Amino acid sequence: MLAISLLSPPYATLSYATPAWLDISVWKCGQRVIVPLGKGGMLRAGIIVSIDDSSVKDGVVLKECLWPAEREPLLQPEYLAMVKQLALRHVVTEGEVLGGLLPAGLRTTKIRLRVLDGGKPRTMAMRDVANMSDIERCSLGVLWASNAVEVLDSTFDAEEQELCSLLEDPPWSVRPSAKRQIEVLDFLYDKGMLSRKRLLQELGSGVSAALNTLAERGLIRIGPREEGTCEACQDDDPECFFEADEGFVLYPEQQTVFDEFSALMHADGARSALLYGITGSGKTVVYLELAAEALANGRSVMLLAPEVALACKLEHAVHSRFPSQDCFFYNGYQSPTEREKTFRTLAERTAPCIIVGTRSALFLPSPTLGLIVLDEEHDTSFKQDEGLVYQAKEVAYYRAQQSNGLLLLGSATPDVKTFHAVQQKAVSMGVMRERAGEGELPEVSLLNIKNMKRADGILAAETKRQIRETVERGEQVVILLNRRGYSPLMYCLDCGQVARCPHCEVGLTYHKERERLICHYCGYSVTYPVVCSKCKGLHYLPMGEGTEKLEEYLAEILPPDTKILRLDRDSTRRPGKMQRILDAFANQEAQVLVGTQMLSKGHHFPNVTLAVVADGDLGLNLPDYRAAERTFQLLVQASGRAGRGEKAGRVLIQTRDPEHYCWQFVGSADYDGFYAEEIERRRKRKYPPFVKLALVRVSYPLDWRKGMEWVESLTEIARALGKEHNVRVLGHTPSPLPVLRGRKRFQWTLKSDGWVSIRTLYYAMRKAVPRGSKLRLSLDIDPVNM
Ligand code: ADP
Ligand code: ZN
Repeated sequence: MLAISLLSPPYATLSYATPAWLDISVWKCGQRVIVPLGKGGMLRAGIIVSIDDSSVKDGVVLKECLWPAEREPLLQPEYLAMVKQLALRHVVTEGEVLGGLLPAGLRTTKIRLRVLDGGKPRTMAMRDVANMSDIERCSLGVLWASNAVEVLDSTFDAEEQELCSLLEDPPWSVRPSAKRQIEVLDFLYDKGMLSRKRLLQELGSGVSAALNTLAERGLIRIGPREEGTCEACQDDDPECFFEADEGFVLYPEQQTVFDEFSALMHADGARSALLYGITGSGKTVVYLELAAEALANGRSVMLLAPEVALACKLEHAVHSRFPSQDCFFYNGYQSPTEREKTFRTLAERTAPCIIVGTRSALFLPSPTLGLIVLDEEHDTSFKQDEGLVYQAKEVAYYRAQQSNGLLLLGSATPDVKTFHAVQQKAVSMGVMRERAGEGELPEVSLLNIKNMKRADGILAAETKRQIRETVERGEQVVILLNRRGYSPLMYCLDCGQVARCPHCEVGLTYHKERERLICHYCGYSVTYPVVCSKCKGLHYLPMGEGTEKLEEYLAEILPPDTKILRLDRDSTRRPGKMQRILDAFANQEAQVLVGTQMLSKGHHFPNVTLAVVADGDLGLNLPDYRAAERTFQLLVQASGRAGRGEKAGRVLIQTRDPEHYCWQFVGSADYDGFYAEEIERRRKRKYPPFVKLALVRVSYPLDWRKGMEWVESLTEIARALGKEHNVRVLGHTPSPLPVLRGRKRFQWTLKSDGWVSIRTLYYAMRKAVPRGSKLRLSLDIDPVNM
């Protein structure tokens, strides 16, 4: 009997019989299989999660498992154990976990079989197999002996196909000029030392420019010969050599931290560590040296970043540090085919390697892991809260433990929870308080804009002056405004009505560039101008400002030849755009970069000497117990973009709430001070890490009248059980977005001393909802978005 978890709805784990015509030894745990489901004989892909030889009760007839999708299991027992843990933790089925983390191509039944039909091979799609006898006709022996079961291609859903065609040329793909550089590099890797003459002969035009850029980036060295001859042309005066990056000579702080962590890596048992190093202290270099050590010991390494652009940066760093090492890059924006290929390759691999990616890379099968690094560990992107809910840090900890490796978290502004774990001695810590190289931490000043009038625009006179002066000195400025679009609110001039999304009830944001009003929550959009729903007027007054308006405003107040770039979700919608903007700014093709929180993350711009935060208070008023922590992290990270070169940097933060306790610490990037204050507030108010906190979310269609009754009765159930299990139940309250995508939404906040009672309570609530109900219930453990 096989227990098989389905990889698509209903995601259940079902028992199947093994067909008599296949040898029992064919079936293995972790193998992908195709099974029939329901009366209609629909096909589903599934994973065998257990095999036992017990027989079923009399009278029960099990369906037979149809076919193994691969000869060898895709997933190892440890992997299945992780899946089980995740399912238990988040109260979902193993099928839901697997369905949420396997690449699309591996979840479908759309594999094609080459079938030997009367001795002649014939290709047929699994879904075209009319009935089992079609398959039974060809014995397994024949099929496999002729290597007949092969996956010719895997297709995926139309929706995903669309997504992937949008992303065919993703932002991190190689630009043409960089392509040339890579060609040159590859050639040099192969051939070693070469003369420029020889390179020109081999690779043709464009080589010189590529050489110069590579030399500037420190990837090769052009210079007089030290020893040896050009291997290709025997010229004994080679001018150009490739210098394999031997790694940096560590600074003393880096060395100390490296020694500590390296010892930890060789230790035994569950262990995790925090690298708490200020922005620009050279954390990446420490990761790479630890990676080198893990590899030398025959262990694999995972390096994860919270977003694609940063993961891409890590990948570059890995390539130049380990030119000959196999490195797998993986992220959610790659095409399903590409992801599937990486997944399969790694499932079969036994030699150690490096994996670089975003949170989803954590679920790649991998040869024994010696080190998992999560860079910028405070970033909320490490939590996935739609679809399959998980916290990458937890999964990483689990995986590190499983393979007796080290989990290393790095940040300049650690998650308060992580830092608390350090204080509790559950996590070790290494500290780096100095910037690597020349850079000094910038000086931060607050600018009270409480009394600024709307007519004055968004930037205070002092701010404008400093921006202008910086630009005139030939230096660069970054300006953070964490709100995209032109204007967040559009008032009807005739009746005062605000333009709202019909599905979400939130205000629509005006995007001038696209001449549209857009809902930032569901993507609903209408062309502007639009008729007011109340008075049929056509005149709107844009209120407040987003990045588009700020960009326009800056163009007005700065000298006419100033080049301004904008980095937000809109300007980076096109493939390749984000990397182009970041590169252009790094190459100083523009003096000013305006953007949302996207620009606060990890980028290295040595010529930026002024960072401006246009609206420092934006995050402080969110209904989230972590609002101050988030704001602190965002602003310290944004400040960290200034003064990373030889010139000193300054940071200007505009605020309407200068009394807020957050500011005194932002000013000096004083994380320790901030932490001390914040942790006391949480202790007093009973917030994590002092309690376990979870949200139960519920939603139902707007027009379903029974919905509210159901929510009320669930509240009663939750309250009653809460008393019994010692869980505080707050709510139901409307969600921060009470209506989203045509559904009404409520939530309960659950607080308790332990997760078990929270899960028990949630489980009971879910059981109370009948199958097929329009009510949708989900559990978010330790939510990052309240
Ligand atoms: P962080 O991630 O801590 O903000 P980075 O790792 O980006 O810092 O390092 C900042 C800069 O310092 C990078 O340009 C890096 O190449 C440089 N750097 C770091 N360590 C060293 C070192 N030991 N020797 C020379 N340069 C270094
Ligand atoms: Zn909407």
